[in-house]
Amino acid sequence: MLYSSRMRAQALVASLLMLFLIALHASADSGLTKIADNVYAYVDIKKASPANSFGANAGIVVGRDGVVVIDTLISVKEAQRFIKDIRKITDKPIRCVINTHYHLDHVLGNAAFVRTGAVVISHAEDQKNFRAKGESILKNARKYGLTEADMEGTVLAYPQISFTDRMEIDLGDLRVQLISAKNSHTGGSLFVFVPERNVVFAGDVLFTGYHPYMAEGDLAGWTVALDALAQLKAAAIVPGHGPVSSNKDITDMKEYIVLFDGEARRLSALSNDPEFLYAELKKVLPNRPESDFLIRANIQRYCKGK
Ligand SMILES: [Zn+2]
Repeated sequence: MLYSSRMRAQALVASLLMLFLIALHASADSGLTKIADNVYAYVDIKKASPANSFGANAGIVVGRDGVVVIDTLISVKEAQRFIKDIRKITDKPIRCVINTHYHLDHVLGNAAFVRTGAVVISHAEDQKNFRAKGESILKNARKYGLTEADMEGTVLAYPQISFTDRMEIDLGDLRVQLISAKNSHTGGSLFVFVPERNVVFAGDVLFTGYHPYMAEGDLAGWTVALDALAQLKAAAIVPGHGPVSSNKDITDMKEYIVLFDGEARRLSALSNDPEFLYAELKKVLPNRPESDFLIRANIQRYCKGK
């Protein structure tokens, strides 16, 4: 009697374990990681390259009334892979796409979502930036290392709706709040906060484990935006690039910006040779495994006009 009930208990444990493994497998299959209930994202992409959107993260919030998409990757091809992964999680309509900012690895997949009926939303400043620079970004995609095959079928789809301070999307059971982070990584960056889940998508205001792209933007304003991000006290932060992050990563990011700016200013007064700056900066910057090439890009703003 005892023996058989133990057998039953073991069988129950085994079948529960099986269910758990099936559930894990389902989320691994989609490529999107579950960040919280109703919130999924691509995170922690290794070996960033042009073909994998430079390791840019993107995600979704699935509410009662539909899906909100946050960023669309670097091409229509990448966006189509994203849509397939979304469809493994939900068949609800994709209501809108939010662009955290106008950089190519976050917006060039927009058109694939517009075709499904989604509306594109951004901060007014980056709507303006995208409209001004979109044509040349797409035309120069090769310069960023993208091939014809990578970009096949990719066309521009600009944000149709914009805001300047805050905006809220009501999905029935969940709110998706858009919060301006202007004058930081770009003129019109934004955060996407899901208060009911205490999750925030930080866009490229936060890079974790990646050297950040700092070739444009307002570095003083950027540190202010990082303070505002920390104030949200989110349980999970999805950065623009890298793994799910915490407030410690915000502190590290702030220190990185201050260190880079201070050292690059000091070094550029000694020499305007970008190789000298690169070698010296490498000695003091924290070791980040991804996107070392961005250090060279970031040096340009200090060597300009010299
Ligand atoms: Zn960016």
